[in-house]
Amino acid sequence: RETDIVKYTLELTSCFEGMAKSLKLDYLIQIPSREEFYGKLKHKVFIDRDMYEKILFNLCSNAFKYTWTGSVTVRLYPDDKDGREVVMLEICDTGVGILEKDIPNLFQRFYRVESNQSRSYEGTGIGLALVKELVIRHGGEISVHSEVKKGTAFRISLPTGWTHLPENQVYFVDEEFEINPLVKCP
Ligand code: ATP
Ligand code: MG
Repeated sequence: RETDIVKYTLELTSCFEGMAKSLKLDYLIQIPSREEFYGKLKHKVFIDRDMYEKILFNLCSNAFKYTWTGSVTVRLYPDDKDGREVVMLEICDTGVGILEKDIPNLFQRFYRVESNQSRSYEGTGIGLALVKELVIRHGGEISVHSEVKKGTAFRISLPTGWTHLPENQVYFVDEEFEINPLVKCP
C-alpha cells in the first residue's frame, strides 16, 4: 500500500487542533494542495504509516509540551538536498527553546534537558531517540535549530523514491486510503 503523505499529514496534524485551542496557541498547518505538492515531485514518496505517525506525533507533542505562548507550525514541502529530491517536514514552535550545549545529546535515549523554567515537564526522554531511529530507517535526516526562550525547529528530510529502503520496507500508495483506525487523537 502507498500512502498519500499530504492527506496523511493533514489527518495526523488535525489531531492536535483541540490541544492548540485549549492551550491558546496558534496552530499553523502549512501544507500545499496535493496538486501543487505532487506536481513538484519527480518520484513517489514511500513512507511507513506507523513510523511516520510516531515521528509526527512525537514532534508535535514536544512542540505543544514545551510552548506556552505563541505558535506551533507544521510544514510539509518538496525540496532538493544535495541534488537529491526530498520531502521536508518541519515542526516549529515559539517555546522554551533548548540550550546549545544540550542539542548534541537530544537524540540520546532517556536524555532530558534540565529545565531552568518554573514549569516541570513530565516525560521519559525516549521520544526524540525514537524519532531519529525512524527517520534513519526512512533513509532520512533530522536536524534541530533552537534558541532559548525563542523557540525550536525540528526539520526532517525524507528522500523520495524507494531505493533507500530495504525491500521488505517498501510501502505502496493507494490513492484513496481509509482513515487508519489506530490513529488516536490526544
Ligand atoms: P517523552 O519520552 O515523553 O517524549 P521528553 O519529551 O522529555 O519525554 P524527548 O521527546 O526525547 O523526551 O525530548 C528530549 C528533551 O528535549 C526534552 O526533555 C526537552 O527538554 C527537549 N525538547 C524536545 N523537544 C523540545 C521542544 N520542542 N522545545 C524545547 N525543548 C524540547
Ligand atoms: Mg517528547
